[in-house]
Amino acid sequence: MGKTTGFLEYPRTENPYRDARERLRDFDDLHTAQPADARRCQAGRCMDCGVPFCQSDFGCPLHNLIPEWNDLLYQGQEKEALERLLLTAPFPEFTGRVCPALCEKACNLADDGVTNRDNELYLIETGFTKGWIQPRIPAVRTGKRIAVVGSGPAGLAAADLLNQLGHTVTVIERADRPGGLLMYGIPNMKLPKEIIARRIHLMEAEGVSFLLNTAATPDVLDACDAVLLCCGSRKPRSLQVENMDAHGVLFAVDYLTAATQGVLSQATPAITAQGKHVVVVGGGDTGNDCVGTALRQGCQSVVQLEMMPKAPEKRPAGNPWPQWPRILRTDYGQMEAISLQGSDPRVYETTVKSIRVNAENRITALETVRLQKQSDGKMTPVPGTKQTLPCDLLLIAAGFIGCEEETLVRFSLSADARGRLLPKDGSHYLAGKLFSAGDMRNGQSLVVRALADGRSAAKEIHDWLRGMKPWPI
Ligand SMILES: Cc1cc2nc3c(=O)[nH]c(=O)nc-3n(C[C@H](O)[C@H](O)[C@H](O)COP(=O)(O)OP(=O)(O)OC[C@H]3O[C@@H](n4cnc5c(N)ncnc54)[C@H](O)[C@@H]3O)c2cc1C
Repeated sequence: MGKTTGFLEYPRTENPYRDARERLRDFDDLHTAQPADARRCQAGRCMDCGVPFCQSDFGCPLHNLIPEWNDLLYQGQEKEALERLLLTAPFPEFTGRVCPALCEKACNLADDGVTNRDNELYLIETGFTKGWIQPRIPAVRTGKRIAVVGSGPAGLAAADLLNQLGHTVTVIERADRPGGLLMYGIPNMKLPKEIIARRIHLMEAEGVSFLLNTAATPDVLDACDAVLLCCGSRKPRSLQVENMDAHGVLFAVDYLTAATQGVLSQATPAITAQGKHVVVVGGGDTGNDCVGTALRQGCQSVVQLEMMPKAPEKRPAGNPWPQWPRILRTDYGQMEAISLQGSDPRVYETTVKSIRVNAENRITALETVRLQKQSDGKMTPVPGTKQTLPCDLLLIAAGFIGCEEETLVRFSLSADARGRLLPKDGSHYLAGKLFSAGDMRNGQSLVVRALADGRSAAKEIHDWLRGMKPWPI
């Protein structure tokens, strides 16, 4: 139970950010780790609550046994703590870096919650350093062959569990490297790419095969006993303005992919913000990643446009603990912009009215307009508020509207109105031998939710292959 009075004695201390100006010079990890003693104190803040909301539906979607491993960590039993963590968390080295930590906001310490994410990261990295993480080779093979299409967190979590259950698993990925948005989406400074490679090598050693540069086709169904589609929710929301085809207008993931490819190849990426006036449309996390990346590439200026009003500083009525607080957050990219430009890059209640281009169809400027919330909740333009912004790189980070058409057509599937492949019975089963999981099934969400959903699909497929589920073949 940690230390009885730990939460009174020790203040919450997170892994510190590197100084903003310093970290802007590279794409290395944003944070530095704290020493073991500090981590133990932090674990000691966990109170063995009667009802640990951190592992409830409000908290961790993986239902991690948080109080148990915090207690073991506090007692100095790091290996046992890690074992307890790994019972439910397939890849703590990913969630320990990128999870928004729903568990910490659902913690009974409320806004002062235990630093579960940093503790989790400490445990897994200690495990790798001390050699406790070794390939787990399944003792028995079932002879069943399963293809997992897509190697994002959902696909990787499903492949990992199916392999541990003894099935022969091939992950099919159209990109040149596995990881989905972990690899090409989330920037290197949030999740260094060697961390993904380390996990993939481990999975390969455990028996999972990876087929890269391959877009899956229905032929895969003939060769397998089950196929799990984890293709993500990759269709980006566009802007309804002219000149969207202009040079210098890009969707966020395309830009972030090119940036990561540049970091990996140590070369200037195919698309760079260097010396440019950058405007990011979308005030969310993806937009923030674009801001941080553009600043590292040496942009001349960066502005982030957000349609919605600025969020409140404190929890609004109707959003009580242990719910996720819908409050104003200033993320790393925005902090960096403040440090460099002297002001928050976010401009609220504003959108793009038109894109100006030159004779070569290259973007040169944007016209923006202020928006106002109407009584029906719609945001409408305010007359007379047009403004011109210089812009030679426009990045659209306005969210995702579901599964890509191409995949649906290829596998003769239809998505619901929100672009999701979410079966009506709440299962992962689609048709024939096909199943789905992750953002493709649920819509764009979080890494931890994709992991949980991938594991849940793996358990369902396992039961189905053993004849314990009713669906037709
Ligand atoms: C820029 C950005 C930053 C984010 N940051 C965070 C964060 O910090 N924390 C967090 O929790 N969440 C974050 N998210 C959300 C998170 O990354 C996603 O919710 C998660 O990756 C979804 O996992 P997935 O496995 O369902 O799909 P994806 O990660 O989208 O993976 C799908 C994979 O399927 C492959 N694929 C698609 N079709 C085919 C095909 N026909 N054949 C073969 N392969 C195919 C794709 O190439 C891709 O690799 C972020 C999202 C974005 C866009």
